[in-house]
Amino acid sequence: MNTIFQKIKNFIQDFALYLHNKLFSSKYVLKGKCKKCGNCCKNILFSTKDGYIKDKKIFNKMKKKHPYYRNFTVQGIVGNKKDFQNGALVFRCKYLNNNNKCSIYFIRPLFCRDYPNINQDLIYNGVEMLDGCGFYFDVNKKFKDYLNS
Ligand code: SF4
Ligand code: SF4
Repeated sequence: MNTIFQKIKNFIQDFALYLHNKLFSSKYVLKGKCKKCGNCCKNILFSTKDGYIKDKKIFNKMKKKHPYYRNFTVQGIVGNKKDFQNGALVFRCKYLNNNNKCSIYFIRPLFCRDYPNINQDLIYNGVEMLDGCGFYFDVNKKFKDYLNS
């Protein structure tokens, strides 16, 4: 019987800690501003549940199923051999013009308007902004803030 009570007690303590962390832990916030370089429109990786797209045949199937993907063309491949993204196809949006500007800016998709959005899980998994991007992620509460509170 003691064991059951102990388990319930542990569960309640864990849940209280989880709630506390959820409510009071620091969160990532987006800072900076867009430099309008266009890099995020030509350095796009797509993924499925099996990981990043590395095979054009798979991408061609995706285009048949979801016409939205026809807006993108392969422009390279990730070459860092140590990286789990190694071999992933790099795509470019066909609406990016030669001046690195969006040719459908005022009617661009929501996803583009929302970029870069904050996805805490991706950040915790090591996702970073593109090199040279004017945006960066920061925490809303620094370590010293915890010491002062
Ligand atoms: S990479 Fe960053 S700075 Fe460049 S256009 Fe995209 S959001 Fe703006
Ligand atoms: S629609 Fe415009 S903003 Fe969106 S990826 Fe293409 S060029 Fe970039």
